[in-house]
This record gives sequence, structure tokens and C-alpha cells, in this order.
Amino acid sequence: MSRASQVFQFNTHELPRRAGEMKEYQLDLEILEPVGVPLVAIPAGDVIEVDMRLESVTEGVLLTADIYAVAKGECIRCLDPVEITVERKIQELYRYEPTNDKGGKRKKYSARTETSDEIDLDAVDELWLDGNEMNLEIPIRDAVVLDLPVNPLCSDDCLGLCPDCGEKWEKLPEGHAHEVIDARWAGLAGLDFKNSDE
Ligand SMILES: [Zn+2]
Ligand SMILES: [Zn+2]
Repeated sequence: MSRASQVFQFNTHELPRRAGEMKEYQLDLEILEPVGVPLVAIPAGDVIEVDMRLESVTEGVLLTADIYAVAKGECIRCLDPVEITVERKIQELYRYEPTNDKGGKRKKYSARTETSDEIDLDAVDELWLDGNEMNLEIPIRDAVVLDLPVNPLCSDDCLGLCPDCGEKWEKLPEGHAHEVIDARWAGLAGLDFKNSDE
């Protein structure tokens, strides 16, 4: 497991393995890799706050959590910095590992490959405890990604930038335009036409 993934590792040993038992935790996960989408993400080094409740159920441990973090990026139209508050509730069942297969670890948490954002749907389908350890990365990542826009905007009606001078449209006077001088005629601009009739 990568160091970045270890941040999301949580040991549930305090929770008795008796259905109905419950524990609550407040975690500040300082992430080592950005979590989000390419144009807006919670930056590495920032904290994802997780208020979570763990409940022992017959099949495993039920996780219910409120996630809070601030994602940062820039407006795709005007390039101003954009901050988006991420607040999500997640609920996931982490199943106990099967114990009847000679201790072999069957299907359990499986991280995404380092180079790909694709999720292996089979692996995500079910979450498994690894002994007492649960890894919160997949449900947290998925919740954050679902909460973020693919194309972040500073505001829905952001007008963006003038393509010629790069100034914001909203700061420019109405009718702002650049005279486009064709290079072939540029020389004529200096001629004095007043004398041409004489
Ligand atoms: Zn903007
Ligand atoms: Zn302009």
C-alpha cells in the first residue's frame, strides 16, 4: 500500500465485534496526494475532516461519515482561484473477511492503480476489513469526486476573458473590441490621404 493510501487506513480494534456496538471518531486526514478531479481538488497537505460512526453489524462494520474539505482550483473561464466546499455523507459496509478459506484473503480493498483514475468496479463493489483495518480511501475519494464540478466556475455567469487582451469581460466597457489591423494594410495607416487629390 502506498504512503498516500495509508493516510486513509483506520484501525477498528476498539470496536467490539458484537452486533449493536458503536464508536464515534473525528478524524483529520492530512492527505499526501490531491483528492478530486483534474481541475479542482483538495490539495496535498490539506485536511479532510471525517466525522464517523462505526457500528458492528452481523456481516461486518457499518461506516457512516460526514466528510468536510475545501477543494481548490481555478475558474475555467477567467482563471480566478476557485474554492469549493465539499460536504458529503457516506455510508458503507465493510465486510468481515471470510474465515473459512484457510485464512486466505479473498477479495478485499483494492486501490486504484497509480497511473489511472479508472475504478475497478468489481473491487469497489464490496469493501472488506483487513483484520481490524479498514481503508477509507475509496468511499472518501468517490464522495469528493461526485461533489466536484468537472469544469469549475467562479460563478455561473462568469463571462470569462477577452481573447485579445486577456482582460475580464466584466471589467471592460460595453462594446469593447480590438481593431484588428491586417498586416498587409498596416503600412497605409501612416499615409496622409488629405494630400492625395492635389
Ligand atoms: Zn470566472
Ligand atoms: Zn480586449
